[in-house]
Amino acid sequence: MTDRKDALATALIHHPYVAPPEFDALPPGIFKASTVFFPNVAATRSRRWDDKSGYTYGLHGTPTTFTLEARLATLEGAHHVLLVPSGLSAITLVDMALLSAGDEVLLPDNVYGPSRSFAAHELKQWGIAYRLYDPMDPASLVAALNEKTKLVWLEAPGSVTLEFPDLRTLVREARAHAPQAVVALDNTWGAGIAFNAFDLGEGQAVDVTVHALTKYPSGGADVLMGSVACRDDALHQRLAWCHSRLGLGVGANDVEALLRGLPSLALRYAAQDVAGRHIAAWCAGRAEFVRVLHPALPDSPGHAHWAGLCSAAAGLVTVEFDPRTSVAQVDAFVDALRLFRIGWSWGGPVSLAVPYQPKAMRALATPYRGTLVRLCIGLEAVEDLVGDLAQALAGMADLPT
Ligand SMILES: *Cc1c(COP(=O)(O)O)cnc(C)c1O
Repeated sequence: MTDRKDALATALIHHPYVAPPEFDALPPGIFKASTVFFPNVAATRSRRWDDKSGYTYGLHGTPTTFTLEARLATLEGAHHVLLVPSGLSAITLVDMALLSAGDEVLLPDNVYGPSRSFAAHELKQWGIAYRLYDPMDPASLVAALNEKTKLVWLEAPGSVTLEFPDLRTLVREARAHAPQAVVALDNTWGAGIAFNAFDLGEGQAVDVTVHALTKYPSGGADVLMGSVACRDDALHQRLAWCHSRLGLGVGANDVEALLRGLPSLALRYAAQDVAGRHIAAWCAGRAEFVRVLHPALPDSPGHAHWAGLCSAAAGLVTVEFDPRTSVAQVDAFVDALRLFRIGWSWGGPVSLAVPYQPKAMRALATPYRGTLVRLCIGLEAVEDLVGDLAQALAGMADLPT
């Protein structure tokens, strides 16, 4: 006689009850699985691993990941999307899928720092060279393009210093001088809202976008995820096979958080845009700063390119302190902020501030001499944020110069 424990062990796994399938509500069902069942052995041979016609293994997709991918394709203006564990892994997936020994990859000098670091270490070690170009000078890109160039990275605007490049001209030059190269854009700042990178005009669209979903799509400062999006089927296949061979996957709980964030994305982006412009304009009136970087400010680098392409801006503002202000004084300013917390990332409810030394960030010449502080605007009342900046600046007056 089987004892009760043994009977339950099997019954609670092979249970006959199946809930009725009709269930209609806004949130899509969240499916979690490593193993996916097949009805028979023949199905293990006929089901495809590399498209969305069926399910084979959790790593290759569930209804939950397919749903998020489809929504992100709409957001990005793409046809295909791959999900990866972070924004950085979206960048490194594109690098690994498209580059091999002897190739060259081009990065803008204001690229997201860890992307450059990956090129300088892993890519270099694999025999792949990288070159930096000045994104604000298309001639600098042209000079770096050659027959070995297989991948050209774009970022709009650049990380931290927020210079907005002439994306259309950069894409046109890349096509003209290195037709074999794939053109990829880090679309985290635009978030799919500010502009459509696949719709920049004939011969000017990018091939691939990556997006740190960690930022705006999540909106909660509680999820790390990235996406790689493209329109071309063959390019998607190259990326998808590399993604599959690398074993990249994302957890259903994190996908659920993203699916929850997307319906409010446009509203949050718009709110942080309004607050960001307000704070940028306020900072522009303060004598402590020699420069305020925000693409919507008329004298911010690349303002005209931003205005010609975008209907909106992310809530990021970078200020450059007067070079006579010491690093210790700027640190004291950031430490004195009460609502702005100190930390990386952005797109969440809490405003953030981080100081940067421009010399350490750029290889090519830049005009920045003073310490930079990047402000990431959250969802607090903008007058409270202005008050916080004002009190921290007022405190600097007491510091020795
Ligand atoms: C944050 C960020 C990334 C990396 O995203 P993670 O999810 O933090 O890895 C990549 N590119 C840009 C422009 C970013 O701001």
